[in-house]
Amino acid sequence: MFKIKIIYFLLAYTLRGTFRQRAALERFQQRKWRRFRKIVLTHSPFYQELAQREADLSDFPLMNKAAFMANFDQINTLGIQREEAMQLALQAEMERDFSPELKGATVGLSTGTSGTRGLFLVSNTERAKWTAMVLRRVVPLKLFKKQRVAFFLRANSNLYSSVQSASLEFRFFDIFQPIGQLVQALAEFQPHILAAQPSVLSAIAEYQLAGEIQIHPSLIISFAEVLTTEDKTFIQNTWSAPLREVYQCTEGFLGVTCAQGTLHLNEDIAIFEKKYLDETRFIPIITDFTRSSQPIVRYELNDILVEKTEPCTCGSCFTALERIEGREDDILLFPGANGEMIKVFPDLICRVIARSAEGFRAYRLRQIEPLVLQLELESANFEGVAEKITNGIQSFLQERGVLGVTLRCVEGIQKKAGEKLRRVERKIVPN
Ligand SMILES: [Zn+2]
Repeated sequence: MFKIKIIYFLLAYTLRGTFRQRAALERFQQRKWRRFRKIVLTHSPFYQELAQREADLSDFPLMNKAAFMANFDQINTLGIQREEAMQLALQAEMERDFSPELKGATVGLSTGTSGTRGLFLVSNTERAKWTAMVLRRVVPLKLFKKQRVAFFLRANSNLYSSVQSASLEFRFFDIFQPIGQLVQALAEFQPHILAAQPSVLSAIAEYQLAGEIQIHPSLIISFAEVLTTEDKTFIQNTWSAPLREVYQCTEGFLGVTCAQGTLHLNEDIAIFEKKYLDETRFIPIITDFTRSSQPIVRYELNDILVEKTEPCTCGSCFTALERIEGREDDILLFPGANGEMIKVFPDLICRVIARSAEGFRAYRLRQIEPLVLQLELESANFEGVAEKITNGIQSFLQERGVLGVTLRCVEGIQKKAGEKLRRVERKIVPN
């Protein structure tokens, strides 16, 4: 039954083809939205009233993670209580058995780098849609040849292990295991496709360069963290295989790179409203038509996306992104001379670091006090590199009118196993 569903959705997505005209896409989205409002939202106590009187999307309330969790019981369409879902999710996480279901849905716990723990529900149908979409958009299906896919994940969930078919063999690697063991298992598996977060891909690349393993993937997929230009170059140089970036979070499968290497938003499965921060940077607010057990309506994400100013040559009219810049929470904030706040986008800092020095690969920069930055750095020439980066950052900040910042340099990155690596992190909360 599950496979039939996947095939059904796979066909539907394939037949849909490529949208080349923005107007046609918008008509399609409106149709999907009306259908979603009628079929799904009328079953959500939270949205029922608005849905029944056929309110416009813009009349629906804006949602964020905190409000989404606070109204969990009312939003979901299955009548699931937050307490019971949380208990099940915690138990699954502890026993590392993700099969138990609640009213036909599996319950997952999102990592929540910002502190709020998120709960998400996924039904069988939603899983089939997700799988079909990933197969269609990310994995090139080769007939008559079984492809081995190595998937590195924070925690197993039925969502991922379900992608097992005649032409694909999925192997799941739990990133909580020591990396040394994982790479040995990976070498034995010999994947055609390697999918992991960029920091894990980089770590595997280091083993390959050191000659400790030999794998030859023909496709590399990066997801879950922001892929920086440095990581991208490093990974691509190691394997000389195409690298596809998937923009995915617990809130959905939001985007993927096309054949031209441009990251496009999946605007046929969700409406993306854009909250602009400047001319090209925006925060996406998503309404996802594929989610029915826990509807995502006008949900404001934490990400800063940078729009491409020119259309992509692949011909798709889906919004093309220059890059995913990082999280809104990670914009560095400094007190200016006249009491104003000076914002520094994470990506700008990454570029300053990249052009200030070489001879290093991994770093993390954290704002730990309003005027104190901590630079964690891995380099054979730690002192020399740290000094160059410090000078680079200081003059960059001074040009922007930020004075009196202290930079502390620490050798090595203190990262917990399985933790997402954010290159630039703001640890202070603005008042
Ligand atoms: Zn494109």
